[in-house]
Amino acid sequence: MNESPAITLDHVVKSYAAAGGTVVALDGVSLTFDAGTSVAVTGHSGCGKSTLLAVMGALEVPDSGRVRVAGQLLADMSASARARIRRADFGFIFQSDNLIPYLTAVENLAQQMALSGTAVDLSRCTEMLQRLGLSEHLHKLPDQLSGGQRQRVAMARALVHRPRYVLADEPTGSLDRASSLEAIEFLLAQQEETRATLVVVTHDPSVAARFATRVALSDGRIVAATTGHRPALNR
Ligand code: ADP
Ligand code: MG
Repeated sequence: MNESPAITLDHVVKSYAAAGGTVVALDGVSLTFDAGTSVAVTGHSGCGKSTLLAVMGALEVPDSGRVRVAGQLLADMSASARARIRRADFGFIFQSDNLIPYLTAVENLAQQMALSGTAVDLSRCTEMLQRLGLSEHLHKLPDQLSGGQRQRVAMARALVHRPRYVLADEPTGSLDRASSLEAIEFLLAQQEETRATLVVVTHDPSVAARFATRVALSDGRIVAATTGHRPALNR
């Protein structure tokens, strides 16, 4: 099907200055994410998963190595061009929901559509929230919602502008087991429908098990990669 590389990393190194010296978060990572695929990135806390997403999503600049998005070197792009692709081509989901507290659920989605440069389509915003079981909560502010509901709004917001790349950092970290599996099924279904490239960082083996392609990180290096068929849902 659609097998051109969407995002490639070539010998990417990223370190941080920390109290005890330099921490090497990514230690020479080379990876290719094909367009239209879904990949889980696993590994223990501190192994570099969030840093990997940050350099892929043009949120952090690596110390060395190259990152390409749709064939284009991020390092060759101006800061404003990088900001533009972040808003238009990427959807980010973080462990904490990062919703705008003074906008309702539906307004949070509408604002994302506007930022991405897409015409605001309120019926799409409403439909996305309904698909996530939030019909009763469309016009509530984030602090009127539970943690799990807020996280589902954040997922809908990350997808509403039909981004080509969806990067999710421990998206189910604040959800119970049942909601967490439901949320992952939603992300995978959306990915299939839109043919986006979906990368989900998780340390939860039951979440990782839903992905045919898995990449394992340890101490900033890739230690294993699996590619196969997506396992059938078995609950
Ligand atoms: P993970 O997401 O797998 O838990 P991270 O990518 O967040 O790992 O972090 C990798 C390593 O880099 C850790 O040792 C972490 O403490 C360190 N690190 C990450 N971000 C920063 C930062 N902004 N400043 C200093 N150290 C950082
Ligand atoms: Mg992390």
